[in-house]
Amino acid sequence: MIKEISGVTIELVKGDIANQPDITAIVNAANAYLRPGGGVAGAIHRAAGPGLEEECRKYAPIEPGQAVITAGYNLPNKYVIHTLGPVYGVDKPEEKLLADCYRNSLKLAEEHDVDSIAFPAISTGYFRYPLEKATEVALRTVLEMVPELKKVKKIRFVLFSDSDLLVYEAELSRLTGQSS
Ligand code: ADP
Repeated sequence: MIKEISGVTIELVKGDIANQPDITAIVNAANAYLRPGGGVAGAIHRAAGPGLEEECRKYAPIEPGQAVITAGYNLPNKYVIHTLGPVYGVDKPEEKLLADCYRNSLKLAEEHDVDSIAFPAISTGYFRYPLEKATEVALRTVLEMVPELKKVKKIRFVLFSDSDLLVYEAELSRLTGQSS
């Protein structure tokens, strides 16, 4: 699904966040120590190579909701923005902390002249945030920021399964008041 809102293209796709060659900055659903680990972080670090982990060391640890930016190393992307989502039921208030991840990532993108950014579904894997609830926070937060964006012209959400993509599509249609 593709929508244009206030001059910004919002794309929902199924895919691998570590394989988005046409995007300037990809977002990592990081752990506090910015180590490779599993899920999104594992895929990103594998594709980026050891230089990424080394640069990450100087920023770790980070707090839930915080975001930091590094180079992309062997990834096709210029930057990786690492953000720490809340662990559902543990880091509170989880809605605000999850919204901060999207807000702070977009702020960093703007500061670095990033024209396109791709997000995974932060906190919905190992951190157990229910997908429907997390999707609402993610899309609402991004849609709220869209009118203020000056540099970012494309925001892609990369979902890992068909069923996750369907949840995103339904929520984006609901929030933008359209049926398709
Ligand atoms: P968190 O620790 O923030 O929950 P995870 O990496 O465990 O982050 O998972 C976040 C979401 O990303 C989950 O929905 C998971 O299915 C999905 N995911 C896992 N690997 C990838 C990948 N390579 N590309 C895109 N999404 C992924």
